[in-house]
Amino acid sequence: MVVRADRGTSLTAKQWSTEAALRMFHNNLDPDVAERPEDLVVYGGTGKAARDWPSFEAISRELAALEADETLLVQSGRPVGVMRTHEWAPRVLIANSNLVPDWANWPEFRRLEAEGLTMYGQMTAGSWIYIGTQGILQGTYETFAAVANKRFNGTLKGTLTVTAGLGGMGGAQPLAVTMNEGVALCIEVDPHRAQRRLETRYLDEVAADLDSAVERVLAAKAAGEAVSVGVVGNAAEILPELLRREVAVDIVTDQTSAHDPLAYLPIGVALEDWQDYAASKPEEFTERARASMATHVEAMVGFMDRGAEVFDYGNSIRGEAQLGGYDRAFAFPGFVPAYIRPLFCEGKGPFRWAALSGDPADIAKTDQAILELFPENEQLARWIKMAGERVEFQGLPARICWLGYDERHLAGLKFNEMVASGELSAPIVIGRDHLDCGSVASPYRETEAMADGSDAIADWPLLNALVNTASGATWVSIHHGGGVGIGRSIHAGQVTVADGTELAAQKIERVLTNDPGMGVIRHVDAGYDEARTVASAKGVRIPMEG
Ligand code: NAD
Repeated sequence: MVVRADRGTSLTAKQWSTEAALRMFHNNLDPDVAERPEDLVVYGGTGKAARDWPSFEAISRELAALEADETLLVQSGRPVGVMRTHEWAPRVLIANSNLVPDWANWPEFRRLEAEGLTMYGQMTAGSWIYIGTQGILQGTYETFAAVANKRFNGTLKGTLTVTAGLGGMGGAQPLAVTMNEGVALCIEVDPHRAQRRLETRYLDEVAADLDSAVERVLAAKAAGEAVSVGVVGNAAEILPELLRREVAVDIVTDQTSAHDPLAYLPIGVALEDWQDYAASKPEEFTERARASMATHVEAMVGFMDRGAEVFDYGNSIRGEAQLGGYDRAFAFPGFVPAYIRPLFCEGKGPFRWAALSGDPADIAKTDQAILELFPENEQLARWIKMAGERVEFQGLPARICWLGYDERHLAGLKFNEMVASGELSAPIVIGRDHLDCGSVASPYRETEAMADGSDAIADWPLLNALVNTASGATWVSIHHGGGVGIGRSIHAGQVTVADGTELAAQKIERVLTNDPGMGVIRHVDAGYDEARTVASAKGVRIPMEG
């Protein structure tokens, strides 16, 4: 069955809030959006939008039938109840993949999944706000820009980045590097994945073999040309080989699906045997995957020892390599403490929106609105212009940009006005990744190395979901295990619909103030002065501060 979101202004559901949830749920499974829609898998290894096809049908049916004062409850991708609430309440409340801490490990999760009792929701797969690879592109662009600022005088021109994984998220890396004027060599074990990035223009070329790939990227690096080259092979073999050849690499990272050992192909396993082997012998496969990740990470550390800028890009590969027996796995940092935390202190994070009309012209108009709202932000302007030119939409047209506290609600209110005036042809949904400043506890990623050591405190994402529920978000989700895998993270999401009504404006103002506000207070609480400055300048009330 091929699933695509409806476009245009005629509704299947009873009001735009539920129509929005229905369209975004279906959009997550659009074959142009999802990595394996036939299995309900959206991205990130096995991140799913619904538990099974009967659940998919039932969620679709219930969203179409929901009244404006009812709330659908979704438990790990399965609709389990509809309750009478009120107009300010979310239309959907979602809890995905949550387990009691002592049981929160992959074998137990997989046992429950095999029994049909749960599913893996990743971050935006099970919360219906995945917008294709663009969703991560801007964050990846920001990260590589931060690397450029830190080490390479503000540009990656004349540098070579080596990474692996060209999946749903990892596929953003080549374009993010070339947008920062650098050269990228991307190792991907599955030729179809590499091909897909080529077709969507995220990747410029695929080399015939390693020799020609190396020759091409070194020539481009020398010429200061911005180009991305894919090479098909196993990163655990190719990266050590690049090290052995002493290729002059400047930056090394990785976005294979290392968070889930069954989604990382070990050395010596053929691509076509992957799924059957992982399914039939998960423990043995895990052991082999971890051993390969140990080899892979050892090569990353080897590059670091030679002076390259090396970082973990949020897939838990250091943790898995350590389990695979490599004891220097944590020699290099994660990307959040290395580059992103100062942004989180300002409540900055991945603000995203999609046009329910399906009309790209609506996104072009919102892009223009963003440029006019924040004229002084040059990096934002550069991004919005480049995205308009270079990003292919997947599914419903959508955009992302990083906005902070005191900014997000301005954008949301502006979009709502544009819907009300008819400037936009249909409502806009406004959401974000769970990877945000105040919505996640993930000690290997967003909360790695917090100043006060509070990395594993998971009260914050729960408060985030509660405050978004109390503030009028249209759907709110609490997930476990996204990004870095089962047992390693708890996170929350919200999506709010701008349907042009006065009620929507009131909800938007509260949600898009309180949601990033959680990031500010979380970082004040952890002792960050940057966050204190933002809180006092913008009047964020924090009882224990003065
Ligand atoms: P994905 O499953 O869509 O893609 C992973 C890719 O890695 C696949 O194409 C796969 O073929 C390839 N791969 C697996 N083993 C390999 C090997 N040994 N050598 C080379 N290639 C191999 O996953 P995704 O959505 O791209 O996410 C990738 C990782 O990044 C996940 O762990 C995810 O949780 C994490 N992630 C990070 C961020 C972030 O902001 N840093 C955000 C979201 C996800």
